[in-house]
Amino acid sequence: MRHPQTPDLTEAERARILAKSALFDPPPAALADGRRELVGLSRSELAEEMAAISEAPFRARQLWHWIYHRGETDFSRMSSIARPLQRKLAECFVIGRPEAASVQTSADATRKFLFRFRDGQEAETVYIPDPHEDRGAVCLSSQVGCTLSCRFCHTGTQLLTRNLGAAEIVGQFMAARDAYGEWPSPKGETPRLLSTIVLMGMGEPLYNYANVGKAMTIAMDGEGIALSRRRITLSTSGVVPMMDRAGAELGVNLAVSLHAVRNDLRDELVPLNRKYPIEELIAACRRYPGASNARRITFEYVMLKGVNDSVADARELVRLIAGIPAKINLIPFNPWPGSRFETSGAAAIERFAGIVMDAGFASPVRTPRGRDILAACGQLRTEGRRPPVHLPARAPLRARPARLQP
Ligand code: SF4
Repeated sequence: MRHPQTPDLTEAERARILAKSALFDPPPAALADGRRELVGLSRSELAEEMAAISEAPFRARQLWHWIYHRGETDFSRMSSIARPLQRKLAECFVIGRPEAASVQTSADATRKFLFRFRDGQEAETVYIPDPHEDRGAVCLSSQVGCTLSCRFCHTGTQLLTRNLGAAEIVGQFMAARDAYGEWPSPKGETPRLLSTIVLMGMGEPLYNYANVGKAMTIAMDGEGIALSRRRITLSTSGVVPMMDRAGAELGVNLAVSLHAVRNDLRDELVPLNRKYPIEELIAACRRYPGASNARRITFEYVMLKGVNDSVADARELVRLIAGIPAKINLIPFNPWPGSRFETSGAAAIERFAGIVMDAGFASPVRTPRGRDILAACGQLRTEGRRPPVHLPARAPLRARPARLQP
């Protein structure tokens, strides 16, 4: 087995992941008429675009303010820019948004957007309002489909079609803000309806790190959307070499899709475990920068009846994460068409949560949100442009004899 802290090997592995990710690059962010998309450019790239049309660097800063603070998409409404330059900008550039191909609102006010991008590919974005306060989380997708085939996840039945570009990732948040009239951006930490980003939608964000990192850097920029890094959570199934890099470069909150505490079971539920087993994953969590009691790592644990919900599982979980500033989100399984699992019973979840809490970890049980519109955790899926994947029939995972049933 690889040693988790062998730097050369980790560097080589990172390079391999980035090269593989590049095979699924999004199409160029431009219109057929050649106009360049400005959303998704870094500050320096925006300055380069201004230089290319012989405009001064301060124009980039002006545009940044209009695009990311004011949410403006029309150059002719940028009142601090003179008319001739407005026209010139409109001839060369565009400030776009993904098109909302459909919008569904759940009985619990969760809203699911199906966003269509310029090449016709689609991904889902979910807004989950806080039931008690005027704020909520926007769950963004990072890929169309996913390579990882986690067994409990609907997205995992859809082949990876391509990565989303930075414009498409931050664009999901901006389009959701449009829908709720949330411009201009608040300064500082003023809570708003769309107050946090969670990268927990379709795809594995760390298999599209270049675009995810760029999009989140834009979202965190203090002169634009200005979301604090504490208001962004990146969820990974455990792409260990990229966790270090994301921690060092972005410093956002980390969530880990754990779901099993033994390698044999996690190999089945989260096949990525065969590459980065639990010991390496936990070691990467222990060295994740900035983790503290104020900024705990979240372990996501989907509760599957008779599969991973025993007393022994709970005890092993506690042993594994001992000493990590962590909380455990227990997620009752959200069924989807064709899924083969059942949700753990209330008594099993309560017992599991009790053991974890007695060990000193918060273990909230996530209330399913948006189940009626297939917007809950693990239920997202679009058809993309490839034929849907038909998984070979497999024997159901066997419950272990030691399990306790409600
Ligand atoms: S849980 Fe995440 S990583 Fe796993 S298949 Fe679903 S979208 Fe992909």
